[in-house]
Amino acid sequence: MQVPFGVYIHFPFCLARCPYCDFAIHVRPEIPHDGYTDAILREFEARATDYAGRQLVSIYFGGGTPSLWKPSCIERIATAVANQFTHPGEIEMTVEANPEALPLAQLEALRAAGCNRLSLGVQSLQPHHLKTLGRPHDARTVQTVCTQARTAGFDHLSLDLIFAVPHQTLADLDRDLDGLFALSPDHLSIYSLTIEERTEFGARARRGRLTVAAPELEATMFEYIDRRARQADFEHYEVSSFARPGHRALHNQLYWSGGEWLGLGSGAHSFRRTSDGGERQSNVRSVDLYLRGEALTSRELLSESELAGEAIWLGLRQLVEGVDRERYAARFGVDPVARFRTEFERLTRQGVIEITSARVRLTARGALFADGIAANFL
Ligand code: SF4
Repeated sequence: MQVPFGVYIHFPFCLARCPYCDFAIHVRPEIPHDGYTDAILREFEARATDYAGRQLVSIYFGGGTPSLWKPSCIERIATAVANQFTHPGEIEMTVEANPEALPLAQLEALRAAGCNRLSLGVQSLQPHHLKTLGRPHDARTVQTVCTQARTAGFDHLSLDLIFAVPHQTLADLDRDLDGLFALSPDHLSIYSLTIEERTEFGARARRGRLTVAAPELEATMFEYIDRRARQADFEHYEVSSFARPGHRALHNQLYWSGGEWLGLGSGAHSFRRTSDGGERQSNVRSVDLYLRGEALTSRELLSESELAGEAIWLGLRQLVEGVDRERYAARFGVDPVARFRTEFERLTRQGVIEITSARVRLTARGALFADGIAANFL
């Protein structure tokens, strides 16, 4: 069976660092558009042969804020990648974007460069929450960008939302959801605000100067989001993702369903299968080192047995449909329920796992303890 394969390109620059963000990003007065593109192409040339013969389904420009990148740079990279591999049909080509600094001309140029899916960091539509999150845009700008993205020819529009923002109420969330659905997106990625240690929010929380949402409120909000999205004809297919029929993101599925990907750029990660397991690789986070040609920092070899456990962990944690038994058996040569009989029997007795002839997945109760349950298989 052909394993789906994608290429991720990390663009590490943003106009400012948001107070909750601990991604590998940099804020620079001047973005080295061409220098960084040249470094990406050098890395690609050096590593593409590791993935010879793969069938390319997705190219993903993430970041950072890759919509700031000169579209001609994006096009150079996309062309090099697409020319290197066979592909079954149209490649899903996503570019992440922020609403600020995204005029129609830039959207048209990104579309002309081959991007066919726009993932827009909306995060909220209300001024006080946007201010808390350190985001410079407003609801009107989001509306303009969404309209112009359609004008530019983007058939796949995904919007990101953050909930459980300090002081947010259920009524606030309701207004955000009303606003989001009114923008007619094809896909939604919805995350609760996570306070990471190494961020400004992390520092504020340590000083007791950040009010975080209570876990009960966060759970209620998520149930509410799920209900409203289903009412609006969205499928809830990944823990944080909802799609209208025909608009599931191919790229993320690579990560959760045993695909392979080559990650290019500072801070990027890669995974490929090998004859006896798999190999995970990480790139250096520092953009200066990356520009000097030092890309890879670590390689981790994984045995087939580690991957077999990880596949259950990922399927239960990330996919609403859970683990597909037939696909799992085709990959690892054994039915997952047979392989982990003891664990599954115990979890079924606890009412947190549901096993059907086709799938193994979390029950609604199990979804509340997803991380702990999935960890049994690592
Ligand atoms: S725009 Fe996104 S990647 Fe950039 S700092 Fe903010 S959250 Fe991080």
